[in-house]
Amino acid sequence: AKQAGGARTARFDESLRAEQSERARTAAGLRQALTDGSLFMHYQPVVDTASGRATGVEALMRWRRGGELVPPGVFIPIAEQTGLIGALGTRALRLACAQAATWHREHGLYLTVNVSTHQLRDPGFTAAVLEILADTGLPAAALVLEITESVLIDAADTPVLGSLRAHGIRIAIDDFGTGYSSLAYLHALPVDILKIDQSFIRRHEDPPRPQDVSLTRAILELARSQDLLAVAEGVETAGQAELLRDLGCPLVQGYHYGRPVDAAAIDTLMREDAFQ
Ligand code: C2E
Ligand code: CA
Ligand code: CA
Ligand code: CA
Repeated sequence: AKQAGGARTARFDESLRAEQSERARTAAGLRQALTDGSLFMHYQPVVDTASGRATGVEALMRWRRGGELVPPGVFIPIAEQTGLIGALGTRALRLACAQAATWHREHGLYLTVNVSTHQLRDPGFTAAVLEILADTGLPAAALVLEITESVLIDAADTPVLGSLRAHGIRIAIDDFGTGYSSLAYLHALPVDILKIDQSFIRRHEDPPRPQDVSLTRAILELARSQDLLAVAEGVETAGQAELLRDLGCPLVQGYHYGRPVDAAAIDTLMREDAFQ
């Protein structure tokens, strides 16, 4: 038994070592991606349910390593663990703002960008964002920064959010409903937009079940009561789209309206007048 345990430990050590070296390899690749062009952004339309047209775009980071695209769900956590997220996030923000400045000028589009809470803890964050806005010409009022709810518990984050808002930048809570004390601090946080997590939207079948509908309606009422603009994420079917319009959800996002695509594809959509 002792021997078997020893073998297990050795196997465990080995897989841990493999994981560590894979992480180190990814971190080295990410460091390079900051300058070699392998890091870029895709953009997904955010659609206004009243007009049926796109009113904004969410920027989503993409990394091409060798021939394949590494999903952000894989490389963002490693960037956070290795402290690279600051540089990566700034790079992503700059790329997205530069791109969206034209879209905003020509079509009034707003840009929404994901931000890791690690970035908020950098005391120079607000200044860095303002510098990027000044360099790219995107107005502060056209920028939304999205923060994931589950990690937004830290009260130390609120002054940064307050200072960003004082400059006209809007703040969104991402993945709303997946964190744990959502209700307790929702009214205390300086936020403008509430993004309903995909898990609530995807569960809507055709025809929708009454208890699912009332849950979504309750979240929308909560948003309204707190003066927050609601966005439903992960809308994949025509039935879900119709339901959210009927429930008065102001903004929607999902494969039903458009997948994340590169900047050139957004340009084409704009030429085809898909945006307002
Ligand atoms: P998120 O911010 O919640 O982004 C939404 C994710 O859902 C995106 O995955 C998007 O491609 C996907 N999605 C959109 N519509 C649908 C739909 O109708 N159905 C389904 N099944 N999925 C849909 P993606 O691009 O893989 O990003 C995953 C996560 O990685 C993001 O979740 C966000 O948390 C993080 N992330 C992406 N870009 C950045 C970034 O620039 N900075 C930071 N800090 N995090 C980022
Ligand atoms: Ca997001
Ligand atoms: Ca997320
Ligand atoms: Ca989300």
